[in-house]
Amino acid sequence: MPLFLHNTLTRQKEPFVPLDPHNVRLYVCGPTVYDFAHIGNARPYVIFDVLNRLLRHLYPKVTYVRNITDIDDKIIKAARENNEEIYDLTQRTTRYFQADMGALGNIPPNIEPLATAHVKEMISMIQSLVQKDHAYESEGHVLFSVKSFPKYGQLSRCKHDEMIAGARVEVAPYKRDPEDFILWKPSEEGIPGWESPWGYGRPGWHIECSAMSLKYLDETFDIHGGGQDLIFPHHENEMAQSQACFGPQTFARVWLHNGMLTVNGEKMSKSLGNFITVHQLLEKLPGELIRFVLLSSHYRQPLDWNDQIVIQSRQSLDRLYNALRGRELSKEANIIEPIKTALEDDLNTPLAISVLHDLAGRIYKASTTHEKNELASSLKASGEALGLFQQEPESWFKGKTGIDENTILALIEARTQARNKKDFIEADRVRDELLNAGILLEDTPQGTTWRQQ
Ligand code: AMP
Ligand code: ZN
Repeated sequence: MPLFLHNTLTRQKEPFVPLDPHNVRLYVCGPTVYDFAHIGNARPYVIFDVLNRLLRHLYPKVTYVRNITDIDDKIIKAARENNEEIYDLTQRTTRYFQADMGALGNIPPNIEPLATAHVKEMISMIQSLVQKDHAYESEGHVLFSVKSFPKYGQLSRCKHDEMIAGARVEVAPYKRDPEDFILWKPSEEGIPGWESPWGYGRPGWHIECSAMSLKYLDETFDIHGGGQDLIFPHHENEMAQSQACFGPQTFARVWLHNGMLTVNGEKMSKSLGNFITVHQLLEKLPGELIRFVLLSSHYRQPLDWNDQIVIQSRQSLDRLYNALRGRELSKEANIIEPIKTALEDDLNTPLAISVLHDLAGRIYKASTTHEKNELASSLKASGEALGLFQQEPESWFKGKTGIDENTILALIEARTQARNKKDFIEADRVRDELLNAGILLEDTPQGTTWRQQ
């Protein structure tokens, strides 16, 4: 079966035909780096990692570009609040972001361009828009003229007057029309800026992605992804700018958007106190478990993060890892066809997970060790298509307790020393401490071993 993807532009599931089958080109809007990524931000990056893995399986080469927005008013504000240099803040939060994405099992993109390193490219694109009368200068700002581009609204299908009525566009004195959006704005002293034909200033957010995708993926590329909240205005504006520059058939051919993640049924927000960062979660949950939750519903559906879904996902992963436990795995095994079919059907990850469970069931029922090993090898290879099973089953079960192996070993050593000193009260206390953390000790002639309760 060919790969089918739901294209936001046509609102249809379509067969995917790459522009160049030797090099599939994917662009995903990256993070604005001023704080830790929250669990909602992680959703697109895990989803598009699965897409990247699938494309790599199907085609010889994939160029995956995901930018870092390191110039933005939110960054300037956060740096001021933290009393921190902007560069230190963006460097620090970029490192956190990359570490969090790694812990979730994501393969890094091929290119992770920084917005601040591509201002020259943005200026040249803005100049070209001004020359073509799609943009105008006003009071040190450069604005895209929405009226100059009749196809505006093609992606989000928003009508101009609805946008204005819904106050989703900012009205400002320097705009000819309220729906016009900023390509360039002036920077006051003390604010980061670059010299430009319109004076000292900085780019707007939307032009970044148009300029960086142009540089690394060309005028037209295959797939553009992000969360549904980016459809309007960010993606609509990216598309308008790029097509106004290069023509109607240019820019992304297929647009993919993931549904939004809520926490206990509510939109995540700092004021509601339900704002969960990936960093916080990783302190108590394995990255693979977080990844599993994020893949447990279809990417276009909303997903609610709650205790129940975490418990269910943990049980699911326990069952799958248990099927792999103690098996001799062959590296030659490949993804089984039903997993490939599920993923090729617009990345149906919940169906793929249920196929993994069927496979685990067959491993439990298989009568010979040989058969169990063969099936387990397929399970491992198939799980890897989802970025799962990146650790040994034993470390999954040991890691589950929330207490790391080194701490367990140090406590066992402390108990042995207490016993050697005949301090049995202390020895029993340590044993009970481990028991409370779900670790059972066994004294054998070779020493003390431990296992999960
Ligand atoms: P931002 O750094 O806010 O631009 O967001 C980075 C990515 O996370 C974008 O693709 C957003 O669409 C996505 N995103 C933000 N919030 C959520 C959410 N609650 N659920 C799913 N995706 C989200
Ligand atoms: Zn973007």
